[in-house]
Amino acid sequence: MKYVDEFRSGELAKNISAKIKAAVDPERSYNLMEFCGGHTHAIFRYGIQDLMPDNIHFIHGPGCPVCVLPTSRIDQALYLLEHNDIILCSYGDLLRVPATDGKSLLKAKAGGSDVRMVYSTQDALKIARDNPDREVLFFAIGFETTTPASAIAIQQAADEGLKNFTLFCNHVLTPAAIQNILESPEVREIGSVSIDGFFGPSHVSAIIGSRPYEFFAEEFQRPVVIAGFEPLDVMQSTLMLIHQINEDRFEVENEYGRVVTRDGNQKAQKLVAETFELRPLFEWRGLGEVPYSALRIREKYKVFDSEQRFNIPKLHSKEIKGCECPTILRGAKRPTDCKLFGTVCFPENPMGSCMVSSEGACAAYWSYGRFRE
Ligand code: SF4
Repeated sequence: MKYVDEFRSGELAKNISAKIKAAVDPERSYNLMEFCGGHTHAIFRYGIQDLMPDNIHFIHGPGCPVCVLPTSRIDQALYLLEHNDIILCSYGDLLRVPATDGKSLLKAKAGGSDVRMVYSTQDALKIARDNPDREVLFFAIGFETTTPASAIAIQQAADEGLKNFTLFCNHVLTPAAIQNILESPEVREIGSVSIDGFFGPSHVSAIIGSRPYEFFAEEFQRPVVIAGFEPLDVMQSTLMLIHQINEDRFEVENEYGRVVTRDGNQKAQKLVAETFELRPLFEWRGLGEVPYSALRIREKYKVFDSEQRFNIPKLHSKEIKGCECPTILRGAKRPTDCKLFGTVCFPENPMGSCMVSSEGACAAYWSYGRFRE
């Protein structure tokens, strides 16, 4: 398949692997954080770690939208279902994420609540059009990749005069999260997490471009390489990061040039800017409350904002005891450090969000890497 097979060639992988082995300084280690869950899965699925020298360590970051959503937001969605006659639409992964006291949207559905799995915001709009007498709420999550689709849905609902559609906005921002990791005590004070460079996300960067990473590459003196999701993309990006680290450079380089530009998709950015504004504070699982790291719906579109239409209280949420997702999302632990991994927690019975999502680090370890360590 064009643009896929070329990036999965075993021969080319061996060549890049040899170049990486020749480039590394055996006297030091290279700790490289892949922000995005798509890269974590590529690393495990294609056995990339096996092609690396021992002193290259991949650290898994928080770039999985389902994983970083805090329990409190799912609890709030469940509260809305209990107290209002609504149809709640959500992407599939989110339905299985455990909330407080082992509840989940899927269990609420089994209990009679009207929860519907959708594949796009357009599905949710159609449900709203087909059910004019019911309130339809779209539970919107995701990084910059999925935000434009939410912006389009809100603008479309406004154009059509849809009165029964709202969006529960949980869209978050990548550069703010990376900055937060670099400012975390584990990295700055305790030094228990050492990060020498970052793989920049692929799809997010297709929207925002490579420019937004330039500030923190300079400020925190860490190199960033925007990497595609195929195995050769990840390997080539590893080589580019090693060259930068060896040469004491901290630049933003773009390996995924077939999709990502410096300025990104400006049409999508304009749509998002028209529809959303920065939230002063938003809670992330693992990172806590991060200033200006998420979006909310602009005043102009407030009639489509679930948080304006419904009374949504602050709730005291509880994490599953023993689940290490928060620490894993900060790169401070690995899935196999969790006592629940593979014992009571596995994809069919997830105890935490990192085992639910197809992009989660625990799911990647379970599917491809659990026998390695
Ligand atoms: S293995 Fe399960 S319980 Fe442990 S950190 Fe991962 S998701 Fe949480």
